[in-house]
Amino acid sequence: MSAVSVNAWMEAASAAIAADAERLTQLDSAIGDGDHGTNLTRGFRAVVEALAGSEEPAPGRRLILAGKTLVSKVGGASGPLWGMALRRAGRAVADAESLDGPALADALEAALAGVVELGSAEPGDKTMVDALTPATQALRAAVDAGQPLADAVAAATSAAEEGARSTVPLQARKGRASYLGERSIGHEDPGAASTVLIIAALGRALEE
Ligand code: ADP
Ligand code: MG
Ligand code: MG
Repeated sequence: MSAVSVNAWMEAASAAIAADAERLTQLDSAIGDGDHGTNLTRGFRAVVEALAGSEEPAPGRRLILAGKTLVSKVGGASGPLWGMALRRAGRAVADAESLDGPALADALEAALAGVVELGSAEPGDKTMVDALTPATQALRAAVDAGQPLADAVAAATSAAEEGARSTVPLQARKGRASYLGERSIGHEDPGAASTVLIIAALGRALEE
């Protein structure tokens, strides 16, 4: 059965975020403070470094290390939120030997629950939750239907993309963008956009 390599996932996420940092920062300049690309680039680079220096074999423990690293390296909202997400994901997977389909579905559900607990955003509030919620649901549905992990991840990626696009006409109700009120309408949420990159990176981290 195929599974996700945590190191490969974080490396692919880090590379994708660094490559798109300017776009993420532009999105954040429109409705925030213009640091989202640099925040996440710095954070995920540190995650990759921390993982490279760790000999921990269990994927759950590697996810916890990744989450702790993000919290310590990123001051903006996205650091604590993704830090919580990855720490909770790691805890949910516990000492499982591999991040196979069912474990990944558990991990994403726990990640989403952690983000909602910390930031109390609901779907429709124009945040990363608008991308992470449909991605998590799509992955769970595909895994439960017995689809190969690569297909489940592809479904999750499409759902995240659609979720991120759905934030454009919304008015932000959480985070910095909410201070803009109606002026936040008409822009994609940067955190939803980076969530697409992080979910899509799963597709480049599959191993047999
Ligand atoms: P900051 O706003 O502190 O500069 P970033 O720019 O790194 O932090 O991240 C902004 C993103 O964080 C937003 O686009 C949004 O997706 C996400 N975000 C902000 N507040 C919340 C929240 N309460 N719940 C979920 N996501 C949030
Ligand atoms: Mg910002
Ligand atoms: Mg900031």
